[in-house]
Amino acid sequence: MSKRLPMSLVDAKTRKHSFTEVALGYTEEEALAEANRCLNCKNKPCVSGCPVRIDIPAFIAKIKAKDYEGAYQIIDHSSSLPAICGRVCPQETQCEKFCIQGIKGDAVAIGNLERFVADYHYQHQHKTIKTKHNNKKVAIIGSGPSGLTCAGDLAKAGFKVTIFEALHIAGGVLVYGIPEFRLPKKIVEMEINNLTDLGVTIETNMIIGRIKTIDDLISEGYQAIYVGTGAGLPNFMKIKGENLNGVYAANEFLTRVNLMKAYQKDSQTPIAHGKKVAVVGGGNVAVDAARCALRLGAEEVSIIYRRSRNELPARNEEVIHAEDEGIKFHFLTNPIEILGNDDFIVTQLKCVEMELGEPDESGRRRPVVKAGSEFLLDVDTVIIAIGTSPNPLIKMTTDQLATSSWGGIIVNEDGLTTKPMVYAGGDAVTGSATVIKAMQAGKLAAKSIIAELNK
Ligand code: FAD
Ligand code: SF4
Repeated sequence: MSKRLPMSLVDAKTRKHSFTEVALGYTEEEALAEANRCLNCKNKPCVSGCPVRIDIPAFIAKIKAKDYEGAYQIIDHSSSLPAICGRVCPQETQCEKFCIQGIKGDAVAIGNLERFVADYHYQHQHKTIKTKHNNKKVAIIGSGPSGLTCAGDLAKAGFKVTIFEALHIAGGVLVYGIPEFRLPKKIVEMEINNLTDLGVTIETNMIIGRIKTIDDLISEGYQAIYVGTGAGLPNFMKIKGENLNGVYAANEFLTRVNLMKAYQKDSQTPIAHGKKVAVVGGGNVAVDAARCALRLGAEEVSIIYRRSRNELPARNEEVIHAEDEGIKFHFLTNPIEILGNDDFIVTQLKCVEMELGEPDESGRRRPVVKAGSEFLLDVDTVIIAIGTSPNPLIKMTTDQLATSSWGGIIVNEDGLTTKPMVYAGGDAVTGSATVIKAMQAGKLAAKSIIAELNK
C-alpha cells in the first residue's frame, strides 16, 4: 500500500516567527506521484463526501495525463474558489474520509492535489471567461465564500451582480479571520479578481442595514437579494473577569492581526503582544488565534479545551502544525474565572479539570467538572474563541425576515427566506461552519434565483 505524499513545510522553528505560508504545495513530480495513487473508483465514493460534488476522480485523471488546465476546468465547474478550498477545507472529514485508499492505508491527498491544480492555473493560464449579460440585477450582501460563490454562479449565468460588503476589503473570514500563514491574501485576491473579471461589481464600506436597507435595494431594482453576512458576533463565556484588559474576542484579535496587519511595525491598528497567552476553544479559530499570538512573540501559548483531543473540531493538519510550533493543549480543561490586578489587567486564568460523561444532544460526550480540580495558569492575555452568532443588524432592519432563537436566518430547501425574493445562506443561516458549506449554500441559492428570474 503506497503512502500518501506529505507536503513540504517551512520548519517549525522558522515559521513560528513568520506570517508567511507554512505549507509549500506539491511540485509537479509530487502531484503526479500522489495522483497516481488514485484508483479512479467507478462509484466515486470521494465525490459523495464533497459538499459541492467536485468530480474528484476526473480531475485527478487529468493530472495523471499532465492536463492541469483540464483538471482546473473540472474543479471550476463545481467550485469557484479551488485555491482556497485546497488550503482550508477539512478534507479529512469530507472527501478524503470516503477515499477507498483510506480504508487500509492513507487516503489520496485530494486537498493537496486541488491546491496544486488551482495554483498551476493561476501561474500559467488565468483566462477571463466572457459571458453574455442579461439586464437582471441581483444584490449580494456580504463577500465571504458564500456571497462570492453565489455571485460567481449568477455572473456566469449572465446576471448583473453587485456585492455589498461592510468592510473595506472583500473576502469575509478569508481575509479577516484565517491568517496569512495558512491562506495568503494574494490567493484570495486572485480568486476575487476572477469574479470581477466576470463582471461582478463589489462595493466595499457598505453596511446593509445602516447605509441602505434590503428594502432600499429592492426599490433600486434588484430583483433578488442573497444574504451571506456570516456569523461575526462573538460569544463570551459569561465568567467573572471577561471585561479585564488583555481579554480579547478571537474575532477582534484576528481582525487586528490579519485584516489590519497588526504584525507589521507600521500598522495603524496595533495590538498588545502578550507573553503568556491562553486561548479558550478548540476550533480553527482558537488554533489560528494561538498561532498568531506565537508569531507576535508570545513565550507560552496554551489552548484550553473542555473536551478531549478526539473531539477537537479544528482541522487535524493545523493542530499538528500548532503542536510542532510549541503550542500546548490543555484538554479536558475549562476556565471558570479570569483574575486581574489593581489596574484591571489580566494576571491569571482559573480553570477546572473536566471528564467526559454521557453524550449530549450533539452526540458528543458531555464534559463534566472533576470535583476539587481547580488550578491557576499565569497569563497576561486571554483570547476567547468559543463560537460566534449572526449579527442581528439585517434582522433588525428587514421586515418579514424570520430568524431562529439564536439569530440564524430561516430558509427553505431552495435557500429562500420568509421574505419574497430574498435568499440567504452560509454562516448567517447555519452559524459558524466551514468555507465549503458556505459555498454550497451560495450555489444552491444561485440555482434557485436563476430558475426564478428566468421563468
Ligand atoms: P463570512 O466569511 O463571515 O463573510 C460574511 C461577510 O459579510 C463578511 O465580509 C462581513 O463583513 C459581511 N457582512 C456582515 N454583515 C454585513 C452587512 N450588514 N452589510 C454588508 N456586509 C456584511 N472553515 C474551513 O472550512 N476551514 C478552515 O480552516 C476555517 N478556518 C477558520 C478560521 C477562522 C479564524 C474563522 C473565523 C473561521 C474559519 N472557518 C474555516 C469557517 C469559515 O471561514 C466560515 O464558515 C465561512 O467563512 C463562512 O462564510 P460566509 O460567506 O457565510 O461568511
Ligand atoms: Fe481516487 Fe480515493 Fe476517489 Fe477512489 S475514492 S476515486 S481512490 S480519490
